[in-house]
Amino acid sequence: MKIKSLKLKNFRNYDLLKLEFDDATNIFYGDNAQGKTNILESIYLSGTTKSHRGTKDRDLVQFGQEESHIETVVEKNGITYQIDMHLKKNSPKGIAINKIPIRKASELFGIINIVFFSPEDLNIIKNGPSERRRFIDLELSQLDKVYLNNLSNYNRIVNQRNHLLKDITQQRNLMETLDVWEIQLIQYGNKIMDRRKQFVNEINKIISNIHKKLTGHREEIHLIYEPSIGNLTLEQALSKNRERDMKIKSTSVGPHRDDICFMAGNLDIRRFGSQGQQRTAALSLKLSEIELVRQSIHDTPVLLLDDVLSELDKHRQNYLLDSIHDIQTLITCTGVDEFVNHRFSINKVFHVQDGQVAKEN
Ligand code: ATP
Ligand code: MG
Repeated sequence: MKIKSLKLKNFRNYDLLKLEFDDATNIFYGDNAQGKTNILESIYLSGTTKSHRGTKDRDLVQFGQEESHIETVVEKNGITYQIDMHLKKNSPKGIAINKIPIRKASELFGIINIVFFSPEDLNIIKNGPSERRRFIDLELSQLDKVYLNNLSNYNRIVNQRNHLLKDITQQRNLMETLDVWEIQLIQYGNKIMDRRKQFVNEINKIISNIHKKLTGHREEIHLIYEPSIGNLTLEQALSKNRERDMKIKSTSVGPHRDDICFMAGNLDIRRFGSQGQQRTAALSLKLSEIELVRQSIHDTPVLLLDDVLSELDKHRQNYLLDSIHDIQTLITCTGVDEFVNHRFSINKVFHVQDGQVAKEN
């Protein structure tokens, strides 16, 4: 899958931008706060309908404007897709595929597959469980439409249950309603946990080799899925925690509390790994994600590398750049110097300055 072109109108600090991408490597360099990440963000939006930074539509629209337009042209399996997205200050976004408006964002599913890699991803093992859940959810939501659907239903039901837990102390007759919500919560929750378990198995098949190569065969790695329910079933865990949940007015067990453990040999590196160990494992995870997406969609995703190369030492930089040679990649950085000695060829270089982009070669 390749992104052929991008047009932005009144998006963030771009009044108007038209870009044509190379099928291989595209570099965007420039000083801080010039608009490099904004370009990657607009592409991420075209693929997922959401900002990778979690920004609301109204803040993506250029200051002083009412509406933004992002037009992305994509080629996938010999078919061209034009995705138009209109972001509005005060109403939901409008999306069209090949000029035909779609009603549900999920219809966009699977056209653009993106792997986004930013310096924060290197902290995924150091940070708390919510970051690791976010990783797994974002990835599975791109790969599996059913998962996406189950997850949004599950989250809705957890919310409903939490509301109910707040009211129930005053109205004991709501107990039956709690039972009804829990039946659904268990249904969706089990599906999510099964799929996460499968995902962790799939990553494990890939990550081990990558990590060995990255560490010069010094370290073995594997992931362990840690559902919050432990050895209980979700039904047992909910009923065991019911009294407590009613006290704290919140649902304390379920997939929204899961975690993934990263083991290097016998060491849980979330807790005991060195910083370098954690970051290398995070890089291995990201590289495994690329590989997993590639296997799942039988095609290559587009890789967006936001400022990530300067965070890696030469060995890891080379490893990353070598492993992505056949994938369309958009790289942002503050200078091009870091590429000078690299074996790998840069196909297009763009200089980004104050919402203007100039092609250099
Ligand atoms: P860095 O190297 O620091 O990451 P960058 O080039 O990636 O910088 P971006 O995050 O792409 O920078 O762009 C930031 C710029 O976009 C900021 O200067 C900010 O003022 C501007 N900006 C953000 N949102 C809007 C908006 N809604 N309207 C106009 N300008 C905006
Ligand atoms: Mg940036």
